[in-house]
Amino acid sequence: MSFSKLGLCDPIVTALTELGYKAPTAIQEQAIPVILSGKDIIAGAQTGTGKTASFVLPILESLNTERKLRGKRIRTLILTPTRELAVQVEASISNYGKYLNLSSMAMYGGIDAAPQIQRLIWGIDILVATPGRLLDMAHQRVLHFDELEMLVLDEADRMLDMGFIDDINKIIERLPKQRQNLLFSATITDDVRFLAKRTLDDAVEISTAAQGATVTKINQWLITVDKSNKSALLSHLIKEHEWQQALIFIETKHGAAKLVSQLEKRGINAESIHSGRTQAVREKILSEFKSGAIKFLVATGIAARGIDIGELARVVNYDLPDKADDYIHRIGRTGRAGLSGEAISFVAKDNFRNLCAIESRLGHIIERKEIAGFAVKKVVPVSILNYVPKNKPQRR
Ligand code: AMP
Repeated sequence: MSFSKLGLCDPIVTALTELGYKAPTAIQEQAIPVILSGKDIIAGAQTGTGKTASFVLPILESLNTERKLRGKRIRTLILTPTRELAVQVEASISNYGKYLNLSSMAMYGGIDAAPQIQRLIWGIDILVATPGRLLDMAHQRVLHFDELEMLVLDEADRMLDMGFIDDINKIIERLPKQRQNLLFSATITDDVRFLAKRTLDDAVEISTAAQGATVTKINQWLITVDKSNKSALLSHLIKEHEWQQALIFIETKHGAAKLVSQLEKRGINAESIHSGRTQAVREKILSEFKSGAIKFLVATGIAARGIDIGELARVVNYDLPDKADDYIHRIGRTGRAGLSGEAISFVAKDNFRNLCAIESRLGHIIERKEIAGFAVKKVVPVSILNYVPKNKPQRR
């Protein structure tokens, strides 16, 4: 299958060829024709599957008409949970649409609104926005939705997790009834279904993998380790295995700062991003990590949402996440679109319950590896796939 057979015009296909895309991914093959036919869709697709292009490409194709936009108007709205994701989606639009004459902007909070307002004055074909800043702009009447044709909810499960449901409802109330809706979500939870029911009209459901399945090219393994030994273990792996790059997930911002200084003491340069750092600093660190100037990035889950590093070799769950969905999101940062990657988790005895929840969500046990010199004092029991904790219902 080629991109032109999916109904995309030459300027788009040329841009894709220049980016080195040879063929559409599974989600692109399924979603692009349906979106071009004008239907609503609900798609279960994780990051790393090429899901962004699966909606951006048909949107570019559909909007590529001679239409004069009035000021303060937009034709497509893409809502994302985080500013990082908004920036990345907009970058994809610019890349794929470089030979088209369409305008786009990423709009998010935490920075001065004046330049964003300035750009809205002439109207924007595709606006990628986080919900809060978008509502601000609508309230200020610097943005109107009466010419809107398409709405995309990207990472809908994330947006609901982050408590954006009221904002989303308020936004949807303002949109024209006649519009095309596309909903993408890594997991189709009950809440996502409820949102879909209220937002979409006769939607086609698309899913590229069984719920909970992860992309197979990610090599997942874990090491059981005593909590007090984690930073020594990480330094050991980096040095012994000559790691060139890793995104390291940690629970708290204090933990992140501490780990960076522990690594530095062992001669490993690392940086951290967390909610305590300003947007400007986060963006600078991220771009240095992407360029390879920073090799090891320690990130809290929230700060790392939406990070898209084209060729990230590995992620490390220094702290295992509480939720199985977060585990899947995190490991999806590596092994993207055709490239292989590895995801390594540090598991202490206290994490046993979470580990079992993650493994039962994946539908398989994660391979355990032992590292010489790091035997545990507190043994992590053997995993049980259908583990049900005694006192609490199992977290999913
Ligand atoms: P996503 O799932 O949207 O986060 O995309 C994952 C990565 O795959 C991004 O870095 C894209 O640039 C890349 N990508 C998307 N579609 C293709 C394709 N058809 N061929 C090669 N790479 C792709």
